[in-house]
Amino acid sequence: MAICKLCEAQAKRKNGGKPHDDLTEMGTPRVFSGVPPRGFTEQDYQCLVCQAKFTQSTNRNDLAWTLWEAS
Ligand SMILES: [Zn+2]
Repeated sequence: MAICKLCEAQAKRKNGGKPHDDLTEMGTPRVFSGVPPRGFTEQDYQCLVCQAKFTQSTNRNDLAWTLWEAS
């Protein structure tokens, strides 16, 4: 199953931004506090429409939105 249009757009967001309306948080944020300069957090999201899963990261060296599973 292809991902929905909103997730397609989400995957192209390079500079952060909010999750689209059908993305819901999965679990709790993972906090990486030991990484310089300030640490970062990751939060998983799943789309209610197409079931795609994303990880949002505040790590500047990472993509803000990583699409890691599309079913
Ligand atoms: Zn979707």
